[in-house]
Amino acid sequence: PRRRRLNVSDYVEGVLSRNRTVIGQAITLVESNHPAHMELAQQVLKELLPYTGKSIRIGISGVPGAGKSTLIETFGTMLCNQGNQVAVLAVDPSSSITGGSILGDKTRMELLSRNPNAFIRPSATGGTLGGVNRKTRETMLICEAAGYDVIIVETVGVGQNEVTVRSMVDFFLLIMLTGGGDELQGIKKGIMELADAIFVNKADGENKQRALAAKTEFNRILHFLQPITGGWAPKAYTCSAFTGEGMAEMWQLINDFKEKTTVSGVFGRRRQKQTLDWMYTMVEDYLRSSFYNKSEIKRTLPGIETVVINGEVSATMAAKQLLKTYNDH
Ligand code: GDP
Repeated sequence: PRRRRLNVSDYVEGVLSRNRTVIGQAITLVESNHPAHMELAQQVLKELLPYTGKSIRIGISGVPGAGKSTLIETFGTMLCNQGNQVAVLAVDPSSSITGGSILGDKTRMELLSRNPNAFIRPSATGGTLGGVNRKTRETMLICEAAGYDVIIVETVGVGQNEVTVRSMVDFFLLIMLTGGGDELQGIKKGIMELADAIFVNKADGENKQRALAAKTEFNRILHFLQPITGGWAPKAYTCSAFTGEGMAEMWQLINDFKEKTTVSGVFGRRRQKQTLDWMYTMVEDYLRSSFYNKSEIKRTLPGIETVVINGEVSATMAAKQLLKTYNDH
């Protein structure tokens, strides 16, 4: 049976009263690329904005197999049992490029997904990288308006994803693994530089000693890196998503971080900067697609490319000409 179409106040009231069905529908709305849906979504978000911003936004990243979903399940369940409301979102831009998802379609976080204090939303798919980015940010706002006070944004460690997630969270946590002495192989320094903390997971059983050794090594490296958050020195820790060891420390650390950076003003300033950066990203995305979708540009571009390649017109000249064409049509 077809459901009655929800109007703005249906969405707003449903989200604010934490009606899970309506929350899901509101997220589906912001994920839609249909112009009418996008218009309605913005009206809903406008009403919800005053209720957003009160959560702690945590980014969690790590290579596939690091134990992210197991850890989020253990950590999230602990938080829910302490009375927190936890929303877990996934950023998986790879899905928009390859059509497949690295975060996987396997049933993840089964226990947490049944917890009444938790809300889990798999990654938005379809559209451009910028589109996935927008969808995750707006989904985060909906969850905050619904009263989720801990937002966990999960991503796979493949480079660009971390930068995207870092740009939308307060605290960025990197999950690491120990390997047979080659802990540091394949780990990009650039990704470590984004982290507010590193947790070496699977520090249990026979792996515990190796995890402790890896922690020492990561601390040594972190010591030489520029901290990403002013006034906060990132450190490495060990944990086990299996035994739950380290989970309470992780939460304590995040709370210490929030308190310290709130007092110093770093916390609020980062959020303001993130919002402005986001606005400019949207402007640039809009301009880019508006430019390349203009029929006059599409029509003249191949010819202009040819004369530029042949050295008949300079790249600068051609760019100016293209912009003139864009403005004139
Ligand atoms: P993801 O790809 O990062 O989400 O990793 P998963 O959570 O799917 O975990 C990958 C594998 O590592 C699974 O077989 C888990 O059971 C295992 N695993 C996750 N956390 C731990 C842990 O703390 N200790 C041990 N020994 N294994 C773990």
